[in-house]
Amino acid sequence: MSAASPLLEVRDVKVYFPVKHGIFGAVRRWVKAVDGVSFELAAGETLGLVGESGCGKTTLGRALARLVPLTEGSIRLEGEDMAQWTGAQLRARRRKWQMIFQDPYNSLDPRMTVGHIIGEALEIHHLASDARERQARVRQLLESVGLDGAYAAFYPHEFSGGQRQRIGIARALAVDPKLIICDEPVSALDVSVQAQIINLLQDLQQERGVAYLFVAHDLAVVERISRRVMVMYLGKVVELGQAAAVVRTPRHPYTQALISAVPEIDDQSQRPRIVLSGELPSPIDPPSGCPFHPRCPVAEARCKLEVPLLREIVPGHWAACHLAGPASRAEA
Ligand code: SF4
Repeated sequence: MSAASPLLEVRDVKVYFPVKHGIFGAVRRWVKAVDGVSFELAAGETLGLVGESGCGKTTLGRALARLVPLTEGSIRLEGEDMAQWTGAQLRARRRKWQMIFQDPYNSLDPRMTVGHIIGEALEIHHLASDARERQARVRQLLESVGLDGAYAAFYPHEFSGGQRQRIGIARALAVDPKLIICDEPVSALDVSVQAQIINLLQDLQQERGVAYLFVAHDLAVVERISRRVMVMYLGKVVELGQAAAVVRTPRHPYTQALISAVPEIDDQSQRPRIVLSGELPSPIDPPSGCPFHPRCPVAEARCKLEVPLLREIVPGHWAACHLAGPASRAEA
């Protein structure tokens, strides 16, 4: 799906969690948090991953970071199957990917100085020959994210939310990763601080060529930072394409509804807001056919019976909808 040779290849990934019943904990049902997701990510690319809370996007990001096990499927990083890495092999390769978390307040150990937090990764991966070199690298990393190197002696509680997220980014960059999984990295920050962090991530990507999987629920933010955007609903990918194409000419009714709720994007269009009825169905017992059919404003009889495949509607733009065609609602 991506023109450049992929850094990351994700094939039919499923992440199911057991639902246990009774005193013996028998497993009779599964929460299908991620249900057959495939995509590629090129080196130095940003892929935005969006969807409502509960759509599986955070679980997918955590599976890629090996924080939750795969039920099925494969993830290859630089051509190597990540599932095969265990023990020392896994530890040696862990520096290839890092994660930036949503909550800069909780993702930094309050008992450690910033110097220790960032320096720990350098120490684990033997990236500095002694304490003096490590301290110098920590200062450089702090400066690269727009903070004073002297802040290494401070503790996390002495910083603002935006500064803490910069520290989280410096910690991720310490091991010079190929891929950073950004899990809602700006959603806990004020709008003006969000813009600063996004600019910083873009500058760092240009300097270092790192790829981002940028998980967020805010489409305006995702459009700004991403080259391509992938939309998830109930554990599945329902739309994937260039960011501008997905946001300006969405092909899937779910993406159209998400976009109609973002005034920064949709204000000029004169289109009525699409209000989705009902809640996101349970991933334990997803609807038959198209999983979006109970909420879809244009559903037809066959949508209850036939599962729509993710199809290439126009070159580079994919959607999982029986009715999606080259002329989208946004173009009509
Ligand atoms: Fe709506 Fe049917 Fe398309 Fe699903 S397949 S999004 S229910 S029109």
